[in-house]
Amino acid sequence: MTSVTGPGATATGSHHPERTPCGGKGVAPVLQLDQVTKVYPTVPPVQALRGVSLTVRRGELVGIVGPSGSGKTTLLHLMGTLDRPSSGTVRLTGLDVAEMADADLAALRATRIGFVFQQFFLAEHQTILDNVADGLLYAGVRQAERRERACEALDLVDLGSRLWSRPTQLSGGQRQRVAIARALVGEPAIVLADEPTGNLDQATGQAILSLLAQLHERGVTILLITHDRAIAERMPRRVEMLDGRIVHDTTTATSQTPQTLNGTALSCYADQTPSWRRVMTAAPVITRRKLRPADLGRLASVGLRTRRLRAGMSALGIAIGVAAIVAVLGLSSSSQAGLLAEIDQLGTNMLTVQNGQTLFGQPAELPKTAPAMIGRISGVTAVQDTAYVPNVDVFRSQLIPSIDTNALSVQAASLGLLHATGDTLAHGSFLNAATATEPVAVLGALAAQRLGIDRVFPGERIWVGGQWFYVAGILNPVVLAPDIDTSVLVGFPATETYLGSDGHPSTVYVRAQTDSVDSVQALLASTANPETPSQVNVSQPSQALVARADAQSALNDLFLGLGAVALLVGAVGVANIMIISVLERRSEIGLRRALGATKGHVRVQFLSEAILLAAVGGAVGVVLGALATAVYAHTKGWATVIPTEAWVGGFAATLIIGAVAGLLPALRAARMSPTQALWTV
Ligand code: ADP
Ligand code: MG
Repeated sequence: MTSVTGPGATATGSHHPERTPCGGKGVAPVLQLDQVTKVYPTVPPVQALRGVSLTVRRGELVGIVGPSGSGKTTLLHLMGTLDRPSSGTVRLTGLDVAEMADADLAALRATRIGFVFQQFFLAEHQTILDNVADGLLYAGVRQAERRERACEALDLVDLGSRLWSRPTQLSGGQRQRVAIARALVGEPAIVLADEPTGNLDQATGQAILSLLAQLHERGVTILLITHDRAIAERMPRRVEMLDGRIVHDTTTATSQTPQTLNGTALSCYADQTPSWRRVMTAAPVITRRKLRPADLGRLASVGLRTRRLRAGMSALGIAIGVAAIVAVLGLSSSSQAGLLAEIDQLGTNMLTVQNGQTLFGQPAELPKTAPAMIGRISGVTAVQDTAYVPNVDVFRSQLIPSIDTNALSVQAASLGLLHATGDTLAHGSFLNAATATEPVAVLGALAAQRLGIDRVFPGERIWVGGQWFYVAGILNPVVLAPDIDTSVLVGFPATETYLGSDGHPSTVYVRAQTDSVDSVQALLASTANPETPSQVNVSQPSQALVARADAQSALNDLFLGLGAVALLVGAVGVANIMIISVLERRSEIGLRRALGATKGHVRVQFLSEAILLAAVGGAVGVVLGALATAVYAHTKGWATVIPTEAWVGGFAATLIIGAVAGLLPALRAARMSPTQALWTV
């Protein structure tokens, strides 16, 4: 923080506190330029100013006139601290600009200088009230007070009745009045106007000039640049420039006599408008100001509000990425919850006994007595078995070439199989004592699908091992015994009669009382095959399913990867949009710097805009992902589960992405020199 008491304030305070602000030798200088030069480091270098010395005192109205290219704008930028001189000194209200840090200069602009430009530079998405109020944005004034003072300033330029209009609804002259009000609202020590009538027709230009003259009467110090001699002629003091030099400066003495501008006799009203006096007598205290959160929020959303479609499109990439991630994690959690619920419903008390391998790697055989033996273990409530029938192919019809197998297997099934496995029939009926001895089959869900059979007609047949079998029923998909899905089930007697099977069980399905599952499991191998229990595989399918539910990750990883790629693309999109936005909004950036924004203010504005853009995309993505999960889970009958890590993580990722994507554009925006930003338009 810098605190400086300018000589201007001291002089005023001690000598002539009640003096009129109309200028004069005894009045403290607001602006002092001493041998100022400016060389633009282009190739070849341009010497825009070649030693300019100029003093402007409080209350003066100075016209600077000169042909185009004579260095007027350069001079104005130096006086307005938007640029630094190559040599020489610039003092503003006594403060040496060369000795001040960038942030202090910005503070100086925010509180001491009002700019008026040829191109008005009004924000079209804002009311003129807010446009004017923005003149105080970087001076650390609260919004309510900003508006109140903006209201007064607009009254001063005769636009008090148009507070809520947009700049686009105003004429050129009215727009320039708004810009003048914005320059005045901070009660600056000096108003710098660069060709304010350049974009206006003659009559409107005249009106602006008389407005400036009136303001001058009220004590405002004004420096007006023009290339129009006729305008300059009527200024109380006239400075003529040519080729980077001051070639003529009328005496300031004339400004002490009342002026007749536009035919109106003027007098000095300074004492009737104490607010203007206050500025000039107050000690210049410069403080660095932070934006208030509400103001920052408003600034960050400018880009979003003014370019909605573009913002929406660039946020879409992020939204898709986040939605994909949330949906993938949500769906896998929901399906896991669904699977676990299903397992719970099917029961965890089913055990299977399968034939293993002999010492020589051959399939071992379970004794035919195994099911009966297992049935005697205490705690066992159901025992059913299937027997794999080797080397039998199944076809839809006789005509299909035998090499086109469906990878279906034929199994003999005991009649109560469904009780043990918990499966259900989709169509038709299961095998019974009568059909078990006949060429009749029941199809697993996948087997039916592969054979192209989706319902059971009387007389429906399939070609099994060289003969016709009638289809009695089709099963629903099987959860705990997936083997059965791809099987064609035939009765034990029928497999012996028609397919030459020996009837050795290959899988025994056992249900045990829930509290004796462990003890039954321990006994199963030795009971099923007392001679070689090591050749028996015992398992608890529900456990395998639980494990599967936990490790459903292969596909998830793929989709998560895709989501991450979408996020990355979204981030690149946001960065892209921000870079374009910075280029497009040069004049806005230049204007903000002129209004007193520091580099930090500009940086934080664009960075927050990028973060906000990404956050909007992220929020939409979370909602979309959650919605997709909910809809899919609902159709599947699962509970909707969206893990906290998924949506919190997804949203947090977007904030980081926004910050990263916005960093470079924000740095570029902050680095942009205000003169260049204003120059390019
Ligand atoms: P005026 O406002 O009187 O028309 P300027 O101050 O804009 O004159 O320009 C004075 C000279 O400096 C011109 O020759 C112009 O081309 C040059 N100039 C102004 N700004 C730049 C810049 N940013 N880079 C290079 N040359 C510049
Ligand atoms: Mg110019």
